[in-house]
Amino acid sequence: MSKYKFDTEINQLLDLMIHSLYSNKEIFLRELISNASDAIDKLKFLTISDEKFKDLSFEPRIEIEADKDKKMLIVRDNGIGMNKEDLVEHIGTIAKSGTKSFLSNLSGDAKKDSSLIGQFGVGFYSAFMVAKKIEVITKKAGDEKAYRWISSGNGEYEIEEVKKDNFGTEIVLHLKENEEEFFDDWTIERIVKKYSNHIPFPIYLLKEEEKDGKKEKKFVQINKASALWRLNKNEITKEEYIDFYKQLTGDSNDPLHWIHTNAEGTLEYSTLFYIPSVAPFDLFRVDYEPGVKLYVKRVFITDDDKELMPTYLRFVRGIIDSEDLPLNVSREILQQNSILTKIKKSSVKKILNELKKMKEKDFDKYLKFYKLFGKVLKEGVYTDYENKDLILDLLLFKSTKGENVSFKEYKERMQEGQKAIYYITGEDEKLLKNSPLIESFKAKDIEVLILDEEVDAIIMPTVTEYDKAPVKSVSTSDIDEDEKDNKEQESKEVKPVLEKLKEILKDEVKDVKVSSRLKESPACLVFDKNDPDFAMQEMLKQMGQTNLQKVKPILEINPEHEIVKKLSGKLKVSDIKDIAYILLDQAKLIEGMKIEDSNEFAKRINKILAKTL
Ligand code: ADP
Ligand code: MG
Repeated sequence: MSKYKFDTEINQLLDLMIHSLYSNKEIFLRELISNASDAIDKLKFLTISDEKFKDLSFEPRIEIEADKDKKMLIVRDNGIGMNKEDLVEHIGTIAKSGTKSFLSNLSGDAKKDSSLIGQFGVGFYSAFMVAKKIEVITKKAGDEKAYRWISSGNGEYEIEEVKKDNFGTEIVLHLKENEEEFFDDWTIERIVKKYSNHIPFPIYLLKEEEKDGKKEKKFVQINKASALWRLNKNEITKEEYIDFYKQLTGDSNDPLHWIHTNAEGTLEYSTLFYIPSVAPFDLFRVDYEPGVKLYVKRVFITDDDKELMPTYLRFVRGIIDSEDLPLNVSREILQQNSILTKIKKSSVKKILNELKKMKEKDFDKYLKFYKLFGKVLKEGVYTDYENKDLILDLLLFKSTKGENVSFKEYKERMQEGQKAIYYITGEDEKLLKNSPLIESFKAKDIEVLILDEEVDAIIMPTVTEYDKAPVKSVSTSDIDEDEKDNKEQESKEVKPVLEKLKEILKDEVKDVKVSSRLKESPACLVFDKNDPDFAMQEMLKQMGQTNLQKVKPILEINPEHEIVKKLSGKLKVSDIKDIAYILLDQAKLIEGMKIEDSNEFAKRINKILAKTL
């Protein structure tokens, strides 16, 4: 017999299970059945994909047995089973780095943490909510040796070799005092029906029945084992959809929405997709776990294929089940299989169209969705060229005229003669709304979209048009050509000012121009239309592009502003050098950029203040 210690994170998890997660204990049974079902899936897959297992005779089944006298509850499966390494690796350690870092970030506040844990499925360890001791007796299919894993959930576990005739796993729970309800046939049956009715395998309960006055024990099937996704929509109740979701994902929250398709015709397949109502904890991790499982003719093939959904729909959970794929599909074949490609393509279209419908018919629900996953969805604008227009229609933005504005809404209320859809990107909503770059737009009552999410800076340069209207950033230099009432002539007075400023600031700016977009501010900075704008530059820097060439902005000045007017009478470089730099630096500050030498900036201001006092 060997002793082992649990991972730190597992101890933390166990501690929460045992001491704080009282509210919904019964889900432990769902988790054990879900593991049994996964184990059968895995073995079934081997029998179709691996020569060694081809001849294995195997009738999938899950059994539940309650022993009141011994205070034991047993969940048994004839799935793949575990060898010693599997036991150590899968029960006792948390291998997935995502889960690990998630757990190590738990706050210690039991209430908060337990709701977080519910999000990613509590798994095997949830059985410690009701059991004071757990045994796992298991034999891996194809192996000779069998093992018993045993633990009381107090920091360590033991493994020893035992005798077991058949492959598969038996989980023996030694229930705590006061958990007697879980010995009751009725209770077990109710829980199984609730959470596991539609998994694809039969679940049997050992029941005591009276026959001719004699008591007799018999296994009775207590679930439908129908593979819910293969049923007709009108045969399935709302509750069944919801419970199936919970069993599929381990998420304890109801899903926000589901999309069920049974396709017949040239291709025959079923898909059942869910949109969660809580964001998966690994949504923004590169090593996120994919949420869609692939089945062929009801046989599980994989749940580990990120290609089944485009990354911008990685929050989708569910099942794709095809009648037309060969059962012995390998990974390599999957990638290029034209049938699967077609199913994936129509699935993506279906999901996007369903979201569009939700946006039109139930905007409140759509907003809930968008708050959770809008950022992720946006990635599709530059990764899914084929569906770009559809995705653009799903986006919502802040704007100078409201919240949650879509391109369509914007376009419908454009001013007469307005030539383009305008937006400004940056980090801070407040700065953007007060930016000098949009002063003239506001004055003319032209709406400007306020884009303050990081991903905006990446996607917007790829959005040049929406429904035939050009889409433009207000920070590009040619914008004022568009919306100018009448192009201001560079007057005689202002021309020399421009030239002087250019001379002084030649290392800092690409050009100095008269602006028509400014109303109140003396100056602003814009970027040449071929240069990346400020938000884009920040984005590139964050993505690790450090060898970027410095992109010089263009300084635009407001000829109507008092400072600029007064400058034209004072054209000695020594007189206006400080003012030139202050104009430049304050424009930077207002637009959220950093000024390189804030010390110098303060000195210049102080010099001028001292003069005026
Ligand atoms: P998850 O199911 O999300 O992987 P669990 O905590 O429920 O997490 O289970 C941990 C791991 O233990 C499983 O991934 C599996 O490898 C192994 N396991 C648990 N129960 C069984 C079982 N009945 N048969 C085979 N392996 C199992
Ligand atoms: Mg599990």
